[in-house]
Amino acid sequence: MTDEHGPGRATAGFHEVYGTEPGGVWAAPGRVNLIGEHTDYNDGFVMPLALPHTCLAAATPRTDGVLRLHSGDAPGGTVELRVEELAPVAGGTGGGDRGGWAAYPAGVVWTLRDAGLLTGAAGGADLYFESTVPTGAGLSSSAALEVVTATALSDLYGLEITPGRIAQLCQRAENVFVGVPCGIMDQMASACCTEGHALFLDARDLTQRQVPFDLAAEGLRLLVVDTRVKHELGDGAYANRRAACEAAAEALGVPALRDVPFEGLDATLAQLERLGYDATTRRRVRHVVTEDRRVEQVIELLDVGDTRSIGPVLTAGHASCRDDFEISCAELDLVVESANAAGALGARMTGGGFGGSAIVLVAEADAEAVGKAVTEAFGAAGHGAPRIFPAVPSAGARRL
Ligand code: ADP
Ligand code: MG
Repeated sequence: MTDEHGPGRATAGFHEVYGTEPGGVWAAPGRVNLIGEHTDYNDGFVMPLALPHTCLAAATPRTDGVLRLHSGDAPGGTVELRVEELAPVAGGTGGGDRGGWAAYPAGVVWTLRDAGLLTGAAGGADLYFESTVPTGAGLSSSAALEVVTATALSDLYGLEITPGRIAQLCQRAENVFVGVPCGIMDQMASACCTEGHALFLDARDLTQRQVPFDLAAEGLRLLVVDTRVKHELGDGAYANRRAACEAAAEALGVPALRDVPFEGLDATLAQLERLGYDATTRRRVRHVVTEDRRVEQVIELLDVGDTRSIGPVLTAGHASCRDDFEISCAELDLVVESANAAGALGARMTGGGFGGSAIVLVAEADAEAVGKAVTEAFGAAGHGAPRIFPAVPSAGARRL
């Protein structure tokens, strides 16, 4: 599942497709978000950690302005494009697979050129990808694909751009070129996380802090439970939640919901009611404001070395996602309920919602029993078996 044998594999894949040796191999990880869901596009706080699962890119530059893209994980062979012709269509490609997987790396080349970092024929390259990040599981395989592309091109073309800037450029590629209105968290996590840490990120000014997150030292484990379901509802719901948050912020006269203080939440909700905003919108606001507060609580606990106590905060975060933001689903709720019933310290859905993955904080000694209980609960409910693995806080994008 990790990239231990990755460089060799990616080099072999590159050689098979292009018949030459690559100029290098790069890796960028997927992520789980510990706490802070749907807060990034509200200028708020998030706290992801990188997974050991990575997207690898073996790459070499080309001088003729041709961009060749090949994924060992996607059918359809090699995609060949000319860098000068890259341009987003209105509203992006329509998002995700409807635009084809190649829109993600092609969008990265476009954004590097659009930012003036690559000119003329620069950006041409042969790229071969291979990933261990489960796709569509809420673990940010798309950000890993973007960030590994940008990191490889930055090195190949000597761009010397910071990981934070790489993340911003990749977000722009996904927003404008692919057409997915994602926030900045996933790309920042993939670009900036470090081993043994969670990344506290202020999505407004992108200030960040690496917060030590040594689970093993405290006899704890963080399990990722990939439900292996993805409900269609997700895409429209994301845009809809985002629009509701932006409308509420405007009505309140603040730049973003991050500016609503937790202490003034009740007064803010009353104000929204007076302004004619319905109960649904008010719940959306309550989620964002309380979720930012939960991120702060988790940091306070981690800073004093009390990792166990973040469990109830995670579970409270799940309740808020489920009841106030309404982005959970039966499978995610079942992970949280069955894990907590079996002795987990806390659990929550992670990522955009409507399927994908949940995280479970558990004492090492109970990890196996809790995983088993979740799998059994899925069986009893008629769901397919989930995929369960430990989230080991790992390194961000790098050259291997
Ligand atoms: P997530 O980022 O949560 O995994 P997304 O729907 O945002 O889910 O992104 C998944 C999409 O990213 C895939 O459908 C595919 O288009 C693209 N993708 C991710 N990893 C790869 C890969 N290794 N090869 C080709 N395409 C990939
Ligand atoms: Mg994604």
